[in-house]
Amino acid sequence: MKIFKNKHNLQKEIFETKGISFVPTMGGLHKGHISLIKQSKKFKLKTLVSIFVNPKQFNKKSDYRSYPRNTNEDIKQLKKLKINYLYIPKYNDIYGFKPKKRVFLDKFSKKLCGKFRKGHFEGVLNVVNRFIEIIKPRNIFLGKKDYQQLYLIKQHIKKRKIETRIIECKTIRENNGIACSSRNSNLTKNQLKIASNIFYYLSGLKKKIKKNYNLFNFNKIKKDLIKLGATKIDYLENYNIKSFKKAKSPKEKFNLFVAYYIKNIRLIDNI
Ligand code: AMP
Repeated sequence: MKIFKNKHNLQKEIFETKGISFVPTMGGLHKGHISLIKQSKKFKLKTLVSIFVNPKQFNKKSDYRSYPRNTNEDIKQLKKLKINYLYIPKYNDIYGFKPKKRVFLDKFSKKLCGKFRKGHFEGVLNVVNRFIEIIKPRNIFLGKKDYQQLYLIKQHIKKRKIETRIIECKTIRENNGIACSSRNSNLTKNQLKIASNIFYYLSGLKKKIKKNYNLFNFNKIKKDLIKLGATKIDYLENYNIKSFKKAKSPKEKFNLFVAYYIKNIRLIDNI
């Protein structure tokens, strides 16, 4: 595994190769990231993983500061996985140039997380656009855990006619049901139990809603989540996962999208 901290050295190395499969991360690696990397390795191109905690996608400085970082441990794991390249850029390597393509921000960026984290998706698209320009990957691997992000990156790539294929990867969960997330490492044992109970409550609710749509009563669900130990609910909405419109009938393929807090830790999922 070769490690690069500078894009020019990275580019010299990778532009000779046949194509890159790219797995962008913010580090704090867990089973979700590892499944993306394992999928990437199946594609027979060279696998490049990046670790960059992107300050522009955090709407609160305190959240950026407390975001879990574990680079030495991450490097050990990536070596074991035998990836080809690891890119750990500094801020200026990413933001010290003007990208050729402008970011396309679909109007769906105003919904769900976009409503509660001002500037978040602008920051995500900005960094992804820059990474794509630096690396020119053939494939990019993204998790369905961050479904709205995945959708918005897809729209950007389509609109700007970028020749990178998105490979959508399923959400990996812990044994207790909760989606693997770097942020989980900030949760206490008791808070993990709360998150697990919320997951089981919501997956049970989804099954019931499929049979009887009238059960989707936001105020009642919100109260139940608070009773289970959530501190605050940002949103709980059901969206059709193809059209990304509000699901109106149980026959549609929908997911429950949720963002909630346990104390000051914000968790998102779609079930
Ligand atoms: P992050 O490091 O949180 O920015 O995530 C990097 C990539 O890993 C994104 O494409 C995420 O959607 C994906 N990812 C994060 N958690 C999971 C998970 N539990 N299952 C699958 N993919 C995930």
